[in-house]
Amino acid sequence: MGQTLNEDEELDPTKAKHQQRLQQKENHIKKQYKLAKMYKYEKYLKQPHRLAKHNTADCGKADCMLCGNPRRTHKMKTVQELKFEQTGQWIEDESKTDKSLTT
Ligand SMILES: [Zn+2]
Repeated sequence: MGQTLNEDEELDPTKAKHQQRLQQKENHIKKQYKLAKMYKYEKYLKQPHRLAKHNTADCGKADCMLCGNPRRTHKMKTVQELKFEQTGQWIEDESKTDKSLTT
């Protein structure tokens, strides 16, 4: 009830959301800037604002053959999807073995 932050949000909710979006961009840039320092990407160390739209190790092109999404570039399933399918099979097999043990 007595918190000043909530009162500000109640006064102008659109402004608070705008600030949140700006903060998200700044946080993203900070994180990626750390990586750029680590791996010495001089382009981004000189111009950190470039990191607002993509990550440090990406080139920024959506259909890039090296760093793009394999689903988009090669029409392959992603590693996560393959993993998910495998775990599904594993659970089915386990249930079968459990039944065989109980009967
Ligand atoms: Zn690329």
